[in-house]
Amino acid sequence: MFLFIYIFFLFLKKCKCIFEYVLDSVDKDLKKTGSVPKYCKTTEVSNNFEVHLQGGTNRMNENEYDVIVVGAGCAGPAAAKKAAELGLKTLLLEKSQVPGEKNVSGTCLNGAALLEPDLNYIVECPVERTIREMRTYHINSDRTTVFHEIPSEGILLLSVRRDHLDSWHTEEARKAGAEVKLSTTVVDIIEEEDYIKGVVTDSGEKFYGKVIIDAAGVNSIVGRKAGLIPKRKGQNMILYVTVAVKLGEEVINERFGDCIEYYLSPGIQYKTWPWIFPKKDTVTLGTGGYMDENLINDEFPNVNQYMENFLNLPVVKKKLEGGEIVSWGLHLEYDEAIERRVRNGLILTGEAGGFVIPFLGEGMPEAFFTGIYAAKAAAEAIEARDYSEAKLSERYEELIGENFFMQAFRHIASVNKESILSKTDEEITQMMQQVIMGGGFISNAIHSKWLKGVEEENFELIQEAYDFLELIQPYAVVDPDFERLYNERKSK
Ligand SMILES: Cc1cc2nc3c(=O)[nH]c(=O)nc-3n(C[C@H](O)[C@H](O)[C@H](O)COP(=O)(O)OP(=O)(O)OC[C@H]3O[C@@H](n4cnc5c(N)ncnc54)[C@H](O)[C@@H]3O)c2cc1C
Repeated sequence: MFLFIYIFFLFLKKCKCIFEYVLDSVDKDLKKTGSVPKYCKTTEVSNNFEVHLQGGTNRMNENEYDVIVVGAGCAGPAAAKKAAELGLKTLLLEKSQVPGEKNVSGTCLNGAALLEPDLNYIVECPVERTIREMRTYHINSDRTTVFHEIPSEGILLLSVRRDHLDSWHTEEARKAGAEVKLSTTVVDIIEEEDYIKGVVTDSGEKFYGKVIIDAAGVNSIVGRKAGLIPKRKGQNMILYVTVAVKLGEEVINERFGDCIEYYLSPGIQYKTWPWIFPKKDTVTLGTGGYMDENLINDEFPNVNQYMENFLNLPVVKKKLEGGEIVSWGLHLEYDEAIERRVRNGLILTGEAGGFVIPFLGEGMPEAFFTGIYAAKAAAEAIEARDYSEAKLSERYEELIGENFFMQAFRHIASVNKESILSKTDEEITQMMQQVIMGGGFISNAIHSKWLKGVEEENFELIQEAYDFLELIQPYAVVDPDFERLYNERKSK
């Protein structure tokens, strides 16, 4: 009997230890990474809670809305569609005549993100190619080429065109009930008693909204006028050059197929990852440089030189033989978090809110997610008749905090950024030969922590690497699910 009580006592003690360990780890994870620790499974309950407004909106004047969304790129139509679905009188304003016609991007949509229930519908968009393979060329200065191919059992990414994607998405918002005004540029905000109450367009029209959702991208005038987007300085930015080459569908099938390619070679990039992404009858190339004092020098008088060198790599030249360059553009990506992304009556989403990971060329899913979350937060605020910063940001930040995909990517980006910025391009190329690209970013994040832990005899770092490896496991086996989802949706 005594033995039994003693064993039971030991068991209770052990339970207490485990409980304390879990609490402690949760606390530590949050402090260190700001991410949702793997022990927390909170998403389902709160994500499913949606407010559907009944009536009330009809009494508004013509130029008064529940929600005004500025920008029909990635975040805007997602926000407008969700707001309209939630019963809100919604207006979507876009400066282009055709949504997406001027939006620059590599445009490969991450399958893992689209598996999230909120984003399932996106797979119905016009898709150029279903990407099933990744290929990486590592070309050293002595021109040795190492080549990795990662075939996949299913679809990894959806290759899309922004003009097609953004136009389709805007139409989805319209079908859901949002009013859409194209060729309309927002030039100012209307602010009263510390609340953002509306916007002014280039034709002088004024539109009033209970909540304004800013989805106008990296340099949004709305966020700047509201004092939330700081003045950008010439650093902590990546300047990208993108080129589209028309080759014809058959040639692309032959030379690229459904495979995206990355190239690492000194002289074709500056701390970025040059890529070639196949579309139906064109391929898009992208490269660029991290803006620090070494980006521009005698050898590289401007950033276009990196693209020239990329196009002139013998292996690339051969693949593009017979092609015609149909566009050449520059785009800046800011690599800084926006400290405050909500004000009374205003929510910043997508790139306007700093939700982009320039290092990984990743931002479309973040824009979709934050657009949808802003609409949900607006609906709850409108239901409560409280459009204050506190009310809006409480729900908005909660939904973002619960999004595992976003937290995991941010973690990977921060670990890699630190490691990559401390290396020369030659070192980066060599380093990347040790890890397999694609999984490379992830394994690099894990390995660097692991190795540092061993070097410093710091068990905590090793434990963190191990925890992180476990944390990302669900995404390692995502392909067959995505393939199934894609086929089901497409056959509808
Ligand atoms: C070179 C490059 C490659 C990339 N590749 C990828 C990739 O492969 N995968 C990925 O996930 N992400 C990629 N990204 C990132 C991704 O493109 C962005 O994160 C995403 O487009 C952000 O969406 P958004 O809706 O916030 O802004 P945007 O897509 O920029 O949309 C903003 C919209 O607002 C409109 N607008 C702006 N100002 C006004 C105004 N005053 N009035 C009215 N309308 C206005 C614009 O016309 C535009 O339509 C890439 C980015 C770059 C630069």
